[in-house]
Amino acid sequence: MKYGIVGCRGRMGVEVERAFGALGHSLVLTSDLEGVECRERPEVLVDFSSHAALAGTASLCREHRCGLVVGTTALKEEHFSLLRALGTEVPVVQSFNFATGVNVLAMILKDYAPLLSDWDLEISETHHNRKKDAPSGTAILLREAAGRDCPTHSLRLGGVPGDHTVCFGNDGEVLTLTHRALNRSVFALGALRAAEFARTARPGFYSFRDVLKKSVEES
Ligand code: NAD
Repeated sequence: MKYGIVGCRGRMGVEVERAFGALGHSLVLTSDLEGVECRERPEVLVDFSSHAALAGTASLCREHRCGLVVGTTALKEEHFSLLRALGTEVPVVQSFNFATGVNVLAMILKDYAPLLSDWDLEISETHHNRKKDAPSGTAILLREAAGRDCPTHSLRLGGVPGDHTVCFGNDGEVLTLTHRALNRSVFALGALRAAEFARTARPGFYSFRDVLKKSVEES
């Protein structure tokens, strides 16, 4: 596949190039703070950068009629409006976390957290000390999956790629669900799966859970 990376010089941009390159996919467009370099029309753009880049990314998708995989966090409602509008024209896959385990955890919470609606609920997340946003996008994703607001604790330590723990408790029991990303390549591999989906999908605004469910339906 011919693809492009927005935020190509960042930690995730480098991981995406490595994961896609290992399968022979061809990097034809790069974008970072210095500007855009385009050699050929990309079929999909992968954006792990900043919400400040999003309007430019959407213009590139329209110009090249290509799909978008967006992993950037700290998105606000205005950014989701922009992505939903773009999704009427091209396929857009958005997730605050492209690790399979986190998305399965979100599905478990969606189905079973209502059974614990009278238990206390708290979420804690740990990330590397260069992370700009807190709480993490994943903590927000898990909170939304659990269907209620709750205290969320953020630790910023060394080089941790991303740990998330969802804790339920009442007077007699504690239930703890933890996901740990062991390295950043899991996010890049998830983005690759999403890009393969976006390359052929109809226009729409999709989550990574939609991508995972589709691959189960097809198997
Ligand atoms: P980083 O700071 O290492 O990289 C970001 C890159 O984007 C930098 O090279 C920066 O120069 C570039 N950039 C910033 N503003 C830009 C703009 N306006 N136009 C073009 N490029 C711009 O950060 P990172 O660790 O690679 O993370 C990037 C984003 O991805 C963050 O929002 C992070 O939270 C998110 N993230 C998401 C997932 C996921 O699975 N969804 C996983 C890891 C990180």
